[in-house]
Amino acid sequence: MAHRRPAYHPFPRVGEAPPAGRLVGVSQPEPWPENVPGPYFVDRECIDCDLCRTTAPRNFERSEEGGYSYVARQPQGSEEESDCERARLDCPVEAIRRHSRA
Ligand code: SF4
Repeated sequence: MAHRRPAYHPFPRVGEAPPAGRLVGVSQPEPWPENVPGPYFVDRECIDCDLCRTTAPRNFERSEEGGYSYVARQPQGSEEESDCERARLDCPVEAIRRHSRA
């Protein structure tokens, strides 16, 4: 009896694209619900180190109940954009994400 490969297989063959909407071997970020809509968000990897709230205090706030940061305001203008980008790059656990721009 011939072996039949299932329609979905977690390990695509070499040269085979993964199923649409899935990234193989890459964890998907889980944003906190308090993030305001927009390009920047904090995911559940945050360790509450305070760096982003110091670097971009106009944009990041702390959830006192949860003990993590979230994006309270998307950057307005180049100065805040620069602050948010610096926070994203300096976050020790890469918990600050930015949706890619089209
Ligand atoms: S810099 Fe990263 S780990 Fe630190 S509080 Fe901000 S999001 Fe959390």
